[in-house]
Amino acid sequence: MIVRQFTCRGTISSHLCAHLRKPHDSRNMARPSSDLAAFRKVFSDAQNIAIITGAGVSAESGVPTFRGAGGYWRKWEAQRLATPEAFSRNPSRVWEFYHYRREVMLTKNPNPAHLVIAECEERLGKQGRTVTVITQNIDELHRRAGTKNLLEIHGSLFKTRCMSCGHEAANYKSPICAALKGKGAPDPNTDDANIPVQQLPRCEETGCHGLLRPAVVWFGETLDSDILTQAEKVLDSCDLCLVVGTSSIVYPAAMFAPQVAARGVPVAEFNMEDTPATMRFKFHFQGPCGTTLPPALARHENEEG
Ligand SMILES: [Zn+2]
Repeated sequence: MIVRQFTCRGTISSHLCAHLRKPHDSRNMARPSSDLAAFRKVFSDAQNIAIITGAGVSAESGVPTFRGAGGYWRKWEAQRLATPEAFSRNPSRVWEFYHYRREVMLTKNPNPAHLVIAECEERLGKQGRTVTVITQNIDELHRRAGTKNLLEIHGSLFKTRCMSCGHEAANYKSPICAALKGKGAPDPNTDDANIPVQQLPRCEETGCHGLLRPAVVWFGETLDSDILTQAEKVLDSCDLCLVVGTSSIVYPAAMFAPQVAARGVPVAEFNMEDTPATMRFKFHFQGPCGTTLPPALARHENEEG
């Protein structure tokens, strides 16, 4: 597995995109199967299942993904706020953006796709089988659904990291600090709150009081190498891989499933549409994953217990 080469989050290059669209033997490749019974047979035999999830799973819970046409907060493209440079220029504005996203999550819930993944992990765990979720999502909906084996490769909206001492901590406060109460409205005409930096979220470690930032991976930043190493192990040892609700165009997740497929392991894609990687996969199930995933991961007649 060579994912370490792709530790920098960014959009797939046009060169590689072309490569993914046209694998060298594409003329001989059949479309992936959408035969649920055939998938279920593979599923019933699998001992270690890796499930890679992306924004599509959250979108079905009504979580704004800040991509494409809905990609704006106030008058900024979200990806221009999700950078270390934006935070150092205007920490108040970036904290307003993340405060808004945290508060929105209080009104959202896991959907049937999150729930069936968690239920499947628990059920298969009792049979000595493993399910591990590798997600690009930062909203913790998998965790709230009950998923335990979870690798959040882009971090979490509900974790902070101190800019001074580096301490990372879970943080579910609402609001995260008094000065952000009622702030963060997304409408384009909203004025910046311009909160003094001393009143933004601060580190609570003894004697530190450093400025906190969201513990998420921003554009141009490197992914956590421990988490990537764990993801590599999961992907190297899985005997079935599901790719759920992700466009397969954001690194490094874009490389995960094609690499699993390249070592001959079945990959099943559950997505609203084809992706640049679809033709490399054994199965493709089109539609909302909250609808397609529950029958795919339900108890199989061959399961014990
Ligand atoms: Zn600190």
